Amino acid sequence: MLNINSITKGIVIDHIKPGYGIRIFEYLKLDKANFTVALIMNATSRKYGRKDMIKIENVIDLDLAMLGFIDPNITVNIIEDEKIIEKINLSLPERVEGIIQCKNPRCITSEERGITHKFVLLDENKGIYKCEYCDQIYSWEG
Ligand SMILES: [Zn+2]
Repeated sequence: MLNINSITKGIVIDHIKPGYGIRIFEYLKLDKANFTVALIMNATSRKYGRKDMIKIENVIDLDLAMLGFIDPNITVNIIEDEKIIEKINLSLPERVEGIIQCKNPRCITSEERGITHKFVLLDENKGIYKCEYCDQIYSWEG
């Protein structure tokens, strides 16, 4: 069993919903990383039963809004000298830009090219977003 101490300096993405680790791994392009990375699938978790984890032996820029949108239950641990120096609990982001597309054919983002699709969170518990331009509703499905 790998543990936190196996990382000296880097990032541990924890409490990933089982099956989502690979999506995040690919989103972060970690398959092409030239530093040590580990994707741990179906680890036992006291909190959630099962979880995926990603360990990154490097400090990289993370788009926390995007990660929160993929899985709002994630915890990001920043590791230095083998210790957690920062713990970030993610949630569904207030705004998402350029991630999801508005499906309304009359929306300006459908009619004109080159406009960034923007959504605003309406209801965090239900994961409801609305398009900033036309109010079209988007339901987040984890
Ligand atoms: Zn729209």
